[in-house]
Amino acid sequence: MLEKQHVDFAQFMEGVIRRNPGELEFHQAVHDVASDIFEYIDDKPAYHEAQILRRLAEPDRVISFRVCWQDDQGKVRVQRGYRVQNNNAIGPYKGGLRFHKSVNQSILKFLAFEQTFKNSLTGLPMGGGKGGSDFNPKGKSDNEIMRFCQSFMTELYRHVGEVTDVPAGDIGVGAKEIGYMFGQYKRITNRYVGVLTGKGLSWGGSLVRTEATGYGLIYFVENMLAQRTDSISNKTICVSGAGNVALHAAEKAITLGAKVITLSDSSGFVHDPSGLTQSKIDWLKQVKTDKQVSIAQYTEQFSEASFHQSEKPWHIPCDIALPCATQNEITQDDAIALINNGVEVVAEGANMPCDTEAVRLFRESKIAFGPAKAANAGGVAVSGLEMSQNSARMSWDEARLHDLLRDIMRSIHDRCRDYGQQQGGYIDYAKGANIAGFKKVAEAMLAFGIV
Ligand code: GLU
Repeated sequence: MLEKQHVDFAQFMEGVIRRNPGELEFHQAVHDVASDIFEYIDDKPAYHEAQILRRLAEPDRVISFRVCWQDDQGKVRVQRGYRVQNNNAIGPYKGGLRFHKSVNQSILKFLAFEQTFKNSLTGLPMGGGKGGSDFNPKGKSDNEIMRFCQSFMTELYRHVGEVTDVPAGDIGVGAKEIGYMFGQYKRITNRYVGVLTGKGLSWGGSLVRTEATGYGLIYFVENMLAQRTDSISNKTICVSGAGNVALHAAEKAITLGAKVITLSDSSGFVHDPSGLTQSKIDWLKQVKTDKQVSIAQYTEQFSEASFHQSEKPWHIPCDIALPCATQNEITQDDAIALINNGVEVVAEGANMPCDTEAVRLFRESKIAFGPAKAANAGGVAVSGLEMSQNSARMSWDEARLHDLLRDIMRSIHDRCRDYGQQQGGYIDYAKGANIAGFKKVAEAMLAFGIV
């Protein structure tokens, strides 16, 4: 039986690779999910007959369009924009928009695929999608960003809607960009609806949305530690990234008594052995909104820290590692360094920051590993709550949203634990997340028949 299952999986992956040539990140994401799902559905012929996995790995729609805008010098610039609508079996497509020079179809297809499972895990009615552009916001003026966002929405508006597809932010897209896009949507359609999440508080946004991914990540880690009758207080944490997720994760972790000693960006990482404080984080929040500022400037401000150009923080000894920068930032060598230095917990704040080899090593070494689709689901969960508030034309208070976020992260943790429990007591959260996320979507797809 096992042999047959392996043949099927190999054939399945061959097909994915053949149909999506050169899309390495997409192959990787499908591979990592499908390897767990094949085992799970081995004795469930209905899923095989209905080709559920094959259908999930074939986005419902890939919308690709030209985005033309004018820079401050009057020069015409041309960019590619995308929206990948992966699956809407359990709700409208939902997922962020990424503006970064690395963006391409492969990256957005992997992100939309992952988002489908992540959104399912939240327990809220949201399908999976992702979009973005190879537009690089670094070094662009506010006016340039506004003109780009308006042009991007001039095409995107016809593909999205509050019950169709609800984009949000991701790398390079924060409240400012969401504002420019929402303004353009409203201008074109004359509709004031929750078509985007991550909106400003005065125009339909939700409290706690900004903090949600980072705080949610720490709630997830707290649950993982509680499962081992341990707690986050007094733990030493290495964080990568210096954006919204990294800074809010660091903020919540230090509030709970942990010590956060690193942050990074594309220029390198800072090591602050004395630990981040709230005032250091406040300073960073201020300077990092200006996309020009490198993390190196931290050491000019706080002399106890050192800057390591073009390096990643993973060889610094820590109890907990939180990769919050971007995909594939923890490779095999980084994973080996972390394991040799005694890391206890690794939880992904970014999407797919650990590559396949690194994840395999963590799982084999029985390190508690929180996969992105579970550990960073707090952001999209509060986006779901923003959608609920918009359709009810209500705003909920902060305490209620904090409680809901904490409850959602606990239930995601528990579902991953229940499906990831291994003989000998190890909890394979990656496997648990894949199976629990798959199950709900697959049941809905089966109910709908062959569509
Ligand atoms: N970009 C975030 C993610 O990766 C949030 C998506 C959303 O709020 O729709 O989950």
